[in-house]
Amino acid sequence: MGDSKRRPLAGRRSVLLGMAGLASAALTACTDGGGPSGSVASSAGTAKPTLPRTGPATPPPSIAAKSSEQAVAALAPTTPPSTGHSSPAPSRHQIEAEFAGKHPKEWGLHVTGVVNRSPSTKVALTFDACGGHGGTGCDHALLQTLRRLNVPATLFINSRWIHANPALSAELAADPLFELANHGTAHLPLSVSGRAAYGIQGTATVAAAYDELMGNQAILQELTGKVARFFRPGTAFYDDVAVEMTRRLGMLPVNFTVNGDGGATFSAATVAAEVGRVVAGDIVISHFNRPAAGTAIGYARALPQLLDHGVSFARLGDVLTA
Ligand SMILES: [Zn+2]
Repeated sequence: MGDSKRRPLAGRRSVLLGMAGLASAALTACTDGGGPSGSVASSAGTAKPTLPRTGPATPPPSIAAKSSEQAVAALAPTTPPSTGHSSPAPSRHQIEAEFAGKHPKEWGLHVTGVVNRSPSTKVALTFDACGGHGGTGCDHALLQTLRRLNVPATLFINSRWIHANPALSAELAADPLFELANHGTAHLPLSVSGRAAYGIQGTATVAAAYDELMGNQAILQELTGKVARFFRPGTAFYDDVAVEMTRRLGMLPVNFTVNGDGGATFSAATVAAEVGRVVAGDIVISHFNRPAAGTAIGYARALPQLLDHGVSFARLGDVLTA
């Protein structure tokens, strides 16, 4: 967290935002469903966080569409994004050499090496923005509720959503209530062998998994001036080799203990009930790119009650060490 690295934003930001591209538009957007739920609500924690707020940042200039594949191909061999530590992240070729011949043994939402909860007494709310067909919206009512109640959150954002929402992306990057995290470049399940989830074929090779991780990592670094510390793939499915790669590239692979909105399919009542069950250390997954879903109303019902019961919230960066 504290070792994030500032880089000049001028010039390259627009190029890299363009690299978010419109490829993979054929994919269905948010397919982040499935997974367990938490149990009874707790009274863990006390004070509400008091975070400073800033106004929206200047939106990036208009962007030239380019496919994410082209973008990643252009980006990868030259300047791999930093891991946030003193040395740069391993290159695509290094990763290919290191992970060649490794065969995955696990596939799913909660495979070995994925972080699903924190050791904190706080609860971490995470919201995905998936992009793609039907997935580029923004749930302003939900964000407004979080801001009104001063509830911090981690936003997992895909390159396609950034490309469709450059001004909003800059605004969210400038808001200290939120922490931006990596939700992949083309929103693919993260596999080294092409495993599929919900009918979406995952990345098929180590190199493709690298591109899915690092294409968006570069875009986020240009957007925020920081190295994103957390990753969740499209559909939230990984294999264990891809999980190891994610860590090697300086990110913590994160999923969840509580499925707050069922891939933005739950009614408001169900969202309120699921979110209302959180206990200390839970990581909750929901979406902020589906304004027509029950997510915003569900959170607007659940959060005041949780706060009244003393539950406190934190961003992943506040409760997890990479
Ligand atoms: Zn998603």
